[in-house]
Amino acid sequence: MIRSLAVLTSGGDAPGMNAAVRAVVRRALDCGVPVHGVFNGYEGLVAGGDSIRLLGWQDVGGILPRGGTFLGTARSERFRLPEGRRAAVANLVERGIGALVVIGGDGSLMGAHVLASEWPEHLASLGLEEAPEALQVIGLPGSIDNDLFGTDMSIGADTALNHIVQAIDDLSSTAASHQRTFVLETMGRHCGYLALMGSLAGGASWVLVPEEELELRWHQKMVRSLRKSREIGRPHQMVVVAEGARHPDGLPIRAEEIRRILCEQLAIDVRITVLGHVQRGGSPTAFDRILATRLGVAAVDLLVKEPPGKLRHMLGLQKNRVTATPLAEVVEQSRRVAQEIENGSYGKAQELRGESFTRGLELVKTLSRIEPAEKSQGEGGVGILTGGADAPGMNTAVSVAARCLLNQGIAVYGVLESFPGLIHGRLRELGWNELTGWLNRPSSELGTLRHDVREEDLAKIAENISRHGLKGLIVIGGLGSYLNVARMVENRRRFPELDIPIVVLPATIDNNLPCTEFTIGADTALNNVIQVLDKIRHTAGATRRAFVVEVMGRRSGFLALLGALASGAEKAYLPELGIRLRDLSRDVDMLQESFRSGKRMVIFLRNEEASRHYTTDFIRRLLEEESRDEFEVRTAILGHLQRGGAPSAFDRILASRMGAFAAFSLADAMEQKYTGVRVLGLQGRGIGAFDLHEALAEMDEGLTRPKNPWFLELLPVAEALAKHGPGATV
Ligand code: ATP
Repeated sequence: MIRSLAVLTSGGDAPGMNAAVRAVVRRALDCGVPVHGVFNGYEGLVAGGDSIRLLGWQDVGGILPRGGTFLGTARSERFRLPEGRRAAVANLVERGIGALVVIGGDGSLMGAHVLASEWPEHLASLGLEEAPEALQVIGLPGSIDNDLFGTDMSIGADTALNHIVQAIDDLSSTAASHQRTFVLETMGRHCGYLALMGSLAGGASWVLVPEEELELRWHQKMVRSLRKSREIGRPHQMVVVAEGARHPDGLPIRAEEIRRILCEQLAIDVRITVLGHVQRGGSPTAFDRILATRLGVAAVDLLVKEPPGKLRHMLGLQKNRVTATPLAEVVEQSRRVAQEIENGSYGKAQELRGESFTRGLELVKTLSRIEPAEKSQGEGGVGILTGGADAPGMNTAVSVAARCLLNQGIAVYGVLESFPGLIHGRLRELGWNELTGWLNRPSSELGTLRHDVREEDLAKIAENISRHGLKGLIVIGGLGSYLNVARMVENRRRFPELDIPIVVLPATIDNNLPCTEFTIGADTALNNVIQVLDKIRHTAGATRRAFVVEVMGRRSGFLALLGALASGAEKAYLPELGIRLRDLSRDVDMLQESFRSGKRMVIFLRNEEASRHYTTDFIRRLLEEESRDEFEVRTAILGHLQRGGAPSAFDRILASRMGAFAAFSLADAMEQKYTGVRVLGLQGRGIGAFDLHEALAEMDEGLTRPKNPWFLELLPVAEALAKHGPGATV
């Protein structure tokens, strides 16, 4: 086992780096491995002295919500030279450090690779033959650009994307008030991920990314599109440009150039917003904190498990699983895209980014059209309804699904107020232009209602399907909607009108549906939860305080567990595990020990259905009784604020991808006269379609949640990192 390790952050800072450092430090200390923090990246490694310090458990306390990196980061010219790296080796050996965790972009990972490769020769030249033969290095992807090979997402990208989406939302409202056109420049020198996904989630009128080969007269097309958009009275226009976008000849496209073209050609008021460092700043999102924590813990586990000398890898998250890729491969493949763009091989660059990038670009182009490509064929169409409780992102899914259908010449009818709307015939035709404004709206414009379809409803549903000539149905909702669709399908023999293709999209903040790792709405709710928890933590003041916070989720512990993981809450009571008396007794001891060890605030998260009798109030009274006036106890029931607000970037992208998938598979089924019922799910990176009955068979007997929710594997991680010291019982 390694004797000691060091952790550093390098290159551009990224939100979530602190969460990664916290995870590395606490997991290492828990495994009995001393850990050094290297301040200011490789510059600190070269400088040595006070720049490399042993870190304790509390040194990384309270840093989860903080942006940037508390270790500091730098670009080091000295480390680029062999003498600098030799000094770094001497500093590591002097402290008995045999392993290094580097969190940064491709340059930083390259630095780690070079250091590990040169280790033996530096040892020899320093006369340090006694030192460990090899340096173990693990890289973690820290970069807002999301341009690293070997991971679906890098630490910081989700936060940056949310900043961009928020900026597009904010600019859209001011642009609409002033009839203004905005040019928004995002980061991404060689990578259009932020610009592309920001445009998809925010609803841009035009997008320019480095990976696309533009036509010689691309700007004329852009001008034409924006002119038409103004003519038809669209309230605002937004051109999103990645800083690395290029003209066909390879020269950079500047935001100022776009502004000038639009001003001259359209004689309009155009404003530029360069988001710049705002994208790097601020508190990390739940996704970034969880990603960073998972990778940080996995890095230490690997270092502790593997025999010395083997590791020179980057850990990433692929298909929602932690994977290791050799650093050399990560750097080479990541840089290849930039190289292809430099050489003008844009097709190759896009291919390297993956199929979902190309599909995303096509989708943005479809959605930014002024009008559908095909005229409506005028013989019936598709119905869309949102069922059950509302979830953020439902509007995005409706907007994208409907526009993808309209674009193929298929009319779309919005069913108002869920299944009762279908029963009572409340449907209205949806138009292209009104749908463009729905992407970012909270809740559901169509309206939702909980209603179990009954025997007497079936004939009315059949009648309305027939009256409106519905040839297919898209249902967006939670388990109640799945069961209602199942009910309709079971009765197809009696009511042949129900024999139409149906696609069901998972949308609920509870994340309790089969065949999908994430449901539409869960990410927004999770971010709502951690924002409140961050604020609660700041209320500790001079008193010692324990908070029992109740979160939603019904019989699924997703929000409670991931909320605890992302906020550092000390305990999560989950319905999957229930609450036992002996747990409560242990938790009281843990609470007292935590306060004795110097903590001023302890947060217990309780899922609303974790136990029938050990309620939130019961736990409060129990803790109060046991506090013996040494600390205060408070409760907070977060309630509906968890569902509120505009959908997060992740939810909008998930809803857009699922909406598009639903529209294309339904159009296909209608053409093939296939009347199956498909349930969509996100598994790993891809969206797939599953048979409804097979999906329902994945649920536990009471139909309350999937049998093996993936996120339960994160429980030990959440508990281990939140306790008050190494070896402390939870
Ligand atoms: P970002 O994605 O934000 O640019 P990055 O990690 O790619 O982050 P760089 O400035 O490229 O940022 O690299 C950070 C540091 O890594 C450099 O300042 C240098 O010290 C070290 N480094 C980069 N490339 C090498 C290399 N080829 N050899 C040794 N060290 C390197």
